[in-house]
Amino acid sequence: MAEGKKTCGTCGLPRGIGKGNVWHANGVITAAYPPHIRGTLYDVDELNALFPALSARIGFDITRLVVEGKRKDGKRYAGSLARNLRAAGREATPMEVYGLISRFCANWGLGLASVREYREGELLVLETGNTYSEPMAMGDWAGVFEAMEGRRGEPHWQEEGGRDYIEVTAVEGEPELEERIEQEVELGIPFTEEGDLRYEHCAECGVPVEISRQFDWNAEEALVLERLSGKRFILHNTNGIAAVVRVLHEELGGEVDEIITEISCDYARDYYASFKDKTSLDAELLKFPLRSWGRPARFKRGDEGCRLGVVNPYSTPILAGRIWGMLEVFEGASFALGGLEEKEGYLEIALARK
Ligand SMILES: [Zn+2]
Repeated sequence: MAEGKKTCGTCGLPRGIGKGNVWHANGVITAAYPPHIRGTLYDVDELNALFPALSARIGFDITRLVVEGKRKDGKRYAGSLARNLRAAGREATPMEVYGLISRFCANWGLGLASVREYREGELLVLETGNTYSEPMAMGDWAGVFEAMEGRRGEPHWQEEGGRDYIEVTAVEGEPELEERIEQEVELGIPFTEEGDLRYEHCAECGVPVEISRQFDWNAEEALVLERLSGKRFILHNTNGIAAVVRVLHEELGGEVDEIITEISCDYARDYYASFKDKTSLDAELLKFPLRSWGRPARFKRGDEGCRLGVVNPYSTPILAGRIWGMLEVFEGASFALGGLEEKEGYLEIALARK
């Protein structure tokens, strides 16, 4: 396929990022094409710390659930990609779609993947590198396989001769829990159209220039690094992770949300403390919408504590924890979680000074 230069000559981001995504004025990033699936710029260490820490706290390994959430996400994404190609008059073979998605994965910082073996309807083997998360990448590729082959795929991680492989084989059946996660993924994350954010966009590729200022975005290596912290980030679908969190909430009760919030708060304290002197609270809040975390609104500070509202939060419990830890670092105070006020597309977090 002729594609010319792969990176934008002005801001240095992969061209596919500007072509495939839209930064909206309401604190949300979506795919440029229908069904405009929401994406989030995730902090990989936060994500990879969350699920093992949660498993340890509740005494139940949720890895399988995370894989399923990602599987449904991958299936939905690959299915809509194939439909969009068809609508544009291009009937793509599964191998072409696997190739396209491999390139997207590199662009989004998820990891390198290339097809090493393929048998229609039976088997897909990908050689991988720099993978953001083994279980989540396995879920992603199982879902892509499922969308293209019309059969459920069972993913396995294999290491051979110093190389890593994801092997997806076709299996029968669909357990009940998976069907529920699929329904949750379809529900998506509600977001309102409210928003008047203005970005300075790259004249060449259209991505907000602030993104290229904040991130060293290397698609060749599938690595997106935040310049300030050195942390790895990925641009990935929002719904899979959100669906896992919702299913956990239903299965295990509301205290799961509180535990997630505490884990995220612990992470955020260390994260913001590591570069506190090089930034400010205002600067960090401005980063939220650029990462599709939502648009901060109504920050109030008083003797008793503080409150912060966020329009279109990508995940209530994760974001609440991040705000809690962030405000402790920048306010130089210890807070207790005073309460969460939730409406569709809106979250307000109250923190009480200890
Ligand atoms: Zn650009």
